[in-house]
Amino acid sequence: KLASREFQQKNTVVTVGSAGFGGKSIPVIAGPCAIESYEQLYQAGVSAKAAGAAMLRGGAYKPRTSPYSFQGLEKKGLEIIKTVGRELALPVISEVTDPRNVELMAEHVDMLQIGTRNMQNFVLLKEVALSKKPVLLKRGLAATIEEWLMAAEYILSSGNNQIVLCERGIRTYESYTRNTLDLTVVPIIKHLSHLPIIVDPSHGTGSWRWVSPMSKAAIAAGADGLLIEMHQNPEEALSDGPQSLTPENFAQLMVDLSSLTTVL
Ligand code: PEP
Ligand code: MN
Repeated sequence: KLASREFQQKNTVVTVGSAGFGGKSIPVIAGPCAIESYEQLYQAGVSAKAAGAAMLRGGAYKPRTSPYSFQGLEKKGLEIIKTVGRELALPVISEVTDPRNVELMAEHVDMLQIGTRNMQNFVLLKEVALSKKPVLLKRGLAATIEEWLMAAEYILSSGNNQIVLCERGIRTYESYTRNTLDLTVVPIIKHLSHLPIIVDPSHGTGSWRWVSPMSKAAIAAGADGLLIEMHQNPEEALSDGPQSLTPENFAQLMVDLSSLTTVL
């Protein structure tokens, strides 16, 4: 298998602008769940950059559970994230939900995100591979490690090895948290595969209160990076407000993480 340690012993390093996943540094991707306006994303980008984030995120096509929820700004959102990324010199990432949009997305962002609901959308995986863009492959919400690595295999076998895996929590019987963040996969993936793995404690827990401790736990477990939702005003966010950190809490987390990584 192309994703396995047997196939390649050396860690794959995925470089996106100045961010390197799988190398010595531990890049943090931060930003709102959804792009809501130019001003909102610009402010988020300024806060993210000032706190030390390596990349800015924001969804333009949102895979919402309800068709009546905000679905994203779509193409306008892509134009916003491209502009803000250039203005702030921050590489940007956004989720692609449709094979028909891959080309458009690739013109606007530096990395393509495959969301949890699309981990086994094989048509989408192959289309994304052809774009040659770095890919963030989130774990399916009920996917085993084997299924997840096989999804990565679809991208690898279509000629793209620029893949970063992302643990974002799985569905269990526990309902206190939105998902159950499975940090065991961090050392397991590093054992089985040469691909970098990052952790998303925002979707993994569903509540901003648990994001900081689980971010630290992820780094202690060996994660190659983090994906964190941050909003200037979480109470007014159009999606995932309850799990979004304020810029102040995000900045504090980055300070805490910097001392933790020196210790480690
Ligand atoms: C997101 O990153 O906003 C998102 C929808 O993530 P997931 O696919 O993990 O639910
Ligand atoms: Mn979200």
